[in-house]
Amino acid sequence: MIETIIKPEVRGLTPYTLQDHTYRYKLNQNENPFGFPNGLKEAFWRRVRERDWARYPDFHLRQVTERLAEHAGVSPDMVLVGNGSNELIQVTLMVTVSRGDTVVIPTPTFTLYALLATVLGATPQSVTLRAGNFALPAEDIIAAAQAKQARVVILCTPNNPTGNIHAEADVRQIIEACDGLVIVDEAYHEFCDQDFRALLDDYENVVLLRTFSKAWGLAGARLGYLLGRPDLVQEIAKAKLPYGLNIFSETAALVALDHQEVMREQVAEIGRQRDLLFGALAGLDGVHPYPSQANFILTRFDRPSGEVFAACLEQGLLVRDVSHYPGLAGHLRLSVGTAEENEILLAVLEKSTK
Ligand code: PMP
Repeated sequence: MIETIIKPEVRGLTPYTLQDHTYRYKLNQNENPFGFPNGLKEAFWRRVRERDWARYPDFHLRQVTERLAEHAGVSPDMVLVGNGSNELIQVTLMVTVSRGDTVVIPTPTFTLYALLATVLGATPQSVTLRAGNFALPAEDIIAAAQAKQARVVILCTPNNPTGNIHAEADVRQIIEACDGLVIVDEAYHEFCDQDFRALLDDYENVVLLRTFSKAWGLAGARLGYLLGRPDLVQEIAKAKLPYGLNIFSETAALVALDHQEVMREQVAEIGRQRDLLFGALAGLDGVHPYPSQANFILTRFDRPSGEVFAACLEQGLLVRDVSHYPGLAGHLRLSVGTAEENEILLAVLEKSTK
């Protein structure tokens, strides 16, 4: 029955899912470990109480769109707000690829791009990031994109799960050489010095994706945004569901934007914790962390990573097993936690990796 109903490319897919584990410390999804502060939650309640819950949200989400435009330094018609950046990846692919089209994806990276491209009937074409430092092989990406006349190229910087940023010169070279759209996913950009906003002034075939799920501590609120040229934004918006974002998420984002100093302080502390954690991991026998400009650290272990994962879980620590990603056998991805969480993690690793 399923064979006659569901498309073969979908039947062949492994779903994007997380295994259910019992844990006390959550270091598996690169969330903000400090959470959304209680003072801001109070501000949220006050504000959301004033809104009319019986009415649909503003069709154009004008308020949050204008605030995001101001925050990003663009005009409001260059902003598209979505239900998490996941939704914006989906709608952008929906308006760009048709059956048989190619989407070029440097790997290893966030797995949702290939999954959504496949569901939409396109062919994800992987290009392996450089061995050792996961840098972009710009020439290979351009060659793959040109050979297949790729409709879309995806560049994630800082890249998940490797943590490195991509060189601006490589990103520009790829955008200049490709006819299709280049999606630059900046989900983790607040944790590094890189900001690709200027690309929008220089090129017509690029969009940037950002999110409130990481630095802003609002993964539960589900709010992402896309930045692009107005004509492009208008076309991408056609695939979005009307009223896809609820008034609660919008209000939470408005409160966060009113208190940006809170996010900046948390991000600075996460950066300090990341650097401490990296130094400590590098000092452990059999543990090989990669430098990171995000809020997580990809780490290779001499001991089988499945055993290290299990040892962490036994002590209540949930980390991300990325050992099935291409080229990442033996690797785990460790989200940067609070100082206390990182110490507990280090203590477990010290005992379990020798
Ligand atoms: N892009 C990247 C690179 C990510 O790592 C994630 C979350 N894991 C997302 C996009 C999606 O984030 P969200 O839908 O929560 O905005």
